[in-house]
Amino acid sequence: MLDDNCIFCKISNKEIPSKLLYEDEFTVAFNDLNPQAPNHILVIPKKHFASLNELDDEKYMSALLNAVKEVTKKLGIKEYRTVINTGETAGQTVFHIHIHILAGRPLLWPPG
Ligand code: AMP
Ligand code: ZN
Repeated sequence: MLDDNCIFCKISNKEIPSKLLYEDEFTVAFNDLNPQAPNHILVIPKKHFASLNELDDEKYMSALLNAVKEVTKKLGIKEYRTVINTGETAGQTVFHIHIHILAGRPLLWPPG
């Protein structure tokens, strides 16, 4: 269920205290440590899945998208970008799936 060496498991099980912006049975959301925009939030499942490739439980899939909607609504963020980096070449550095929410400035497309 949880991975002892995973920083995001430690955040989701509150072994590492952090200010949660949103929480439900399946997910938590918190601010990114190294924000790339005025709002940079991460939404993660409370269960360890290394990446989207390993995410095989529809409860968590729907809960993650629902959490994006709930946390943006709660914070009054109407326009935002969501990103899931999957694998090293795509920019994934933490191998516990997370959805980035970026907002508060104009965002370029395509990303670098
Ligand atoms: P990614 O590169 O898509 O795997 O994104 C990992 C993100 O996690 C980066 O934006 C990091 O800044 C962020 N991050 C790493 N450790 C922490 C932490 N302890 N708390 C909050 N954000 C973190
Ligand atoms: Zn984990």
